[in-house]
Amino acid sequence: MHEVGIVDGVLRTASETARASGATKIVSVTLRIGDMREVVRESLDFAWEALREDDPLTAEAELIVEEVHPRSACVSCGNEFDHDRFHLRCPVCGSGQTLTLSGRELDIVSMEIETP
Ligand SMILES: [Zn+2]
Repeated sequence: MHEVGIVDGVLRTASETARASGATKIVSVTLRIGDMREVVRESLDFAWEALREDDPLTAEAELIVEEVHPRSACVSCGNEFDHDRFHLRCPVCGSGQTLTLSGRELDIVSMEIETP
């Protein structure tokens, strides 16, 4: 369950940022998560429901997730291709030497807050 660690870090960052902005409440937090992070959505939601209540600022915050599908570039032939977590080889030349362009994201994209 590495989702607990992710949620813990996100909630901490979110509440620190919100407090610095003088917020009284966090309405929602939007995350961008790449498929390569192997985050289980159910576990993430479960951890979110459990941990958000530790802080009155985040207690009612909604979690919004944008999923990012993996995309890589082939080192051998330069082809760029979309793929899933398991098929990383270049579909053009079959090379296993590829660079991940996207799919490893784990970012807070935006946050909606209420201020007095
Ligand atoms: Zn290739």
